[in-house]
Amino acid sequence: MRAKVRLYVEHPLGEVQPVPLSREQAHYLFGVMRLGEGAQVALFNGRDGEWTATVAEAGKRGGVLVCDAQAVPLQMPPDLWLLFAPIKKARTDFIVEKAAEMGVRRILPVQTEFTNAERVRQDRLQAHAVEAAEQCGATFVPEVGPLRKLDRVLADWPAERQLTFCDEAEAGRSSARAGVVAGKGAPWAILIGPEGGFSDTERTRLRGMELAQVVQLGPRILRADTAAVAALTLWQLTYGDWQ
Ligand code: SAH
Repeated sequence: MRAKVRLYVEHPLGEVQPVPLSREQAHYLFGVMRLGEGAQVALFNGRDGEWTATVAEAGKRGGVLVCDAQAVPLQMPPDLWLLFAPIKKARTDFIVEKAAEMGVRRILPVQTEFTNAERVRQDRLQAHAVEAAEQCGATFVPEVGPLRKLDRVLADWPAERQLTFCDEAEAGRSSARAGVVAGKGAPWAILIGPEGGFSDTERTRLRGMELAQVVQLGPRILRADTAAVAALTLWQLTYGDWQ
């Protein structure tokens, strides 16, 4: 029987491993979900797969679960990063949530020339990624990085990583579709720009990168959040773990 509650914890998971609960987790399990001692819960921590655990102690301010058996081994998503320029709060939250659901390793907010946001709440975005993983059955949680300037990120670009640059200036031009550059399994990243699009300087720089490929996402200009989901879908189908 599948446990009805699936919870992310930081604690290591393993056979007969006790897992202490924080006040918030105890409140959620025993107050909100009304679980009592003996109830089963599914746990994951992003490293040890999913485990079934039994409630050993249930209190108002804390409690303890004990791991029974591993139900699902750790399943890593493909080595894909999503780089995106933060937009309005709710749309940024949406991008993080969808990226975690669709399967990426890292989510990296980047500040481009036309990005309005000066800062992001990294902890809040990370919590969104955890919540998305909890509800979609993932055993891995992508790390949300701090906001960094695109320039800097490109300056330390890892030698082997492909970069798929979604350029709105190429919308509808089929010639923009770059051919296959690397095969499945290669480290990769997708870059989505802000509402204001990319500057000419950025475009020139990105086009000059050896491992970058420029792609278009159809003849219409999509909002950044839609573009992120569309690009992740195309990538997952072509190079990812959807087949
Ligand atoms: N203000 C810009 C649009 C930016 S859309 C303009 O009017 O031109 C936000 C981001 O989504 C873009 O930077 C790009 O990364 C992506 N995007 C949206 N539509 C796209 C398309 N048809 N092809 C490629 N990328 C697209």
